[in-house]
Amino acid sequence: MFAKELGCTGCGKAHGLKALYACDACGGSLEVKYDYGAIFKKEIADLLPAPGLNLWRYRSLLPIANEKAMVTLFEGGTPLVESPALAGHMGMDRLYLKDETRNPSGAFKDRLMAVGVAKAIELGFTHVVTASSGNGAASLAAYAAKARLSCTVFIPENTPMAKVAQARVSGAKVIKVRGDYSNSFRVAREVSTEPSCMNLTTTFLNPYAVEGCKTVAYEIFLQAAGEAPDWILVPTGAGPLLYGIKRGFEEIAQLGLTTKVPRLVAVQAAGCRPIEEAYRLNSPVRSWPKAETVASAISDPLRGYEKDGERVLTTLRSCSGLAVAVNDQEIIEAVRLLAEKEGVFSEPGGAAAVAALKMLVRAGKIRREEKVVCVVTGHGLKDPIAAIGDTDVETIEPDVADAFRKMRVSKDTE
Ligand SMILES: *Cc1c(COP(=O)(O)O)cnc(C)c1O
Repeated sequence: MFAKELGCTGCGKAHGLKALYACDACGGSLEVKYDYGAIFKKEIADLLPAPGLNLWRYRSLLPIANEKAMVTLFEGGTPLVESPALAGHMGMDRLYLKDETRNPSGAFKDRLMAVGVAKAIELGFTHVVTASSGNGAASLAAYAAKARLSCTVFIPENTPMAKVAQARVSGAKVIKVRGDYSNSFRVAREVSTEPSCMNLTTTFLNPYAVEGCKTVAYEIFLQAAGEAPDWILVPTGAGPLLYGIKRGFEEIAQLGLTTKVPRLVAVQAAGCRPIEEAYRLNSPVRSWPKAETVASAISDPLRGYEKDGERVLTTLRSCSGLAVAVNDQEIIEAVRLLAEKEGVFSEPGGAAAVAALKMLVRAGKIRREEKVVCVVTGHGLKDPIAAIGDTDVETIEPDVADAFRKMRVSKDTE
């Protein structure tokens, strides 16, 4: 560290680097001072990361040729967060979170939409369409705005309000379709036959968009210093994210950088689990009749595109993976755990992998010493009330004695 002191912005007095909120001489506000002489003895390249780091740094492995089409909102490059407190709680030695909540629209869908919108531009489309349970719509709306394309999104009636707001604020035409996600899927597919439209629905429908998911694997590999994890747990709706991660690791293996491809776990919600059911019964994938879960982001009945589920099963078989389902109560507990242990706020669907890990460790399927990555796919602010029930908290008069009393009470009851 090169920070050396706190300097007063009023009188200039220097203070030590301690918990101090104002200058003790003049009451002025403080700022951190650095030893720039020492800093500039180091290589500048070590100090500041190269600018322009976004998904397109992997362009040679993405299906876009035209550099001018490569639209970006600085998606990807999300942290792989070591999570010792959560690991301890689970009885694990090494647990990491791939924190996809840090993407520009708050979900990994930005990786698909960056590539998908680039392809739409490259191919000369002027209008992009998606069916989405909310995050894809929010993401596409943002990328379409940046790329100056018209955008229409079809979302289920019960889509969380914040995701609707995200899509609308970027100027997309937002249309709700009654019923579950598969109804939106069908409508979007039919209207996208219009020649100006490219359909960027984030099932396996658009082969270009799916490619964006591979970048999650590249990053995990690079961030883990070239040591592929033993397991990667992935919240799964239709499956492109899980499939893309597997493909990414296969490519890394093909490039000769590793021989190890992690085992993947598809995590579904108990209230909508067509893939998990087919895996467990060793039967063909059948669409799920009545989707009912708090995890709206992974609530995909696959009706009319059951084959997407088969692609996931094939992917799982090729890496000795697993499919599991977690119920709403376990999912909400995982949202809380992520926030309380690691300070990461996930939407319910985004926390499903953490819920599944707890179950798999207990069941002895994942061993303590194995290295595990849970992908946290979407931000908690997208559906905040789902996790906490309500946001009513105690309000007091601006009375310091009362505040002291309350602080002590909350400590005692811990
Ligand atoms: C879309 C989505 C998923 C599921 O991704 P698939 O690639 O359809 O399996 C999981 N979590 C969140 C937050 C999502 O938005």
